Amino acid sequence: MTDREGGCLCGAVRYTLKAEPRPGVVCHCTHCRRQSGSLFSFNIVVRESDYEQRGETKVFVDSGDSGQPVNRHFCGHCGAPILVRIAAAPRHVVIKAGSLDDIGGLTAATEIYCDHAADWLTPIAGAARFAQNQ
Ligand SMILES: [Zn+2]
Repeated sequence: MTDREGGCLCGAVRYTLKAEPRPGVVCHCTHCRRQSGSLFSFNIVVRESDYEQRGETKVFVDSGDSGQPVNRHFCGHCGAPILVRIAAAPRHVVIKAGSLDDIGGLTAATEIYCDHAADWLTPIAGAARFAQNQ
């Protein structure tokens, strides 16, 4: 495969994914909603060792359902969300996939926190839906 590239809106943060991610997760939770300013986030998980970043992110330490830290990394210049590091899953990073240069070929296998989804959004064909986390 060819590596996937991504980055923030202003270009201060760039990254390379050195492995093809697994199918993605659409998250309707209120934290993703607020951070993105949109109605959901589209997330792909890769191993930490397959993620290479140039440029510095700032971090907002959020907390997940488990009470463990959820470190939300974003560009300090333009504010674009880049990735999340979840303390409960230390060897993986969760990429905010809208930051990729090319989303071609990516699919959503799962929708989570559907309890919070906008009621006019249509379920994604073929994706498993969970009321809260999977
Ligand atoms: Zn930026």
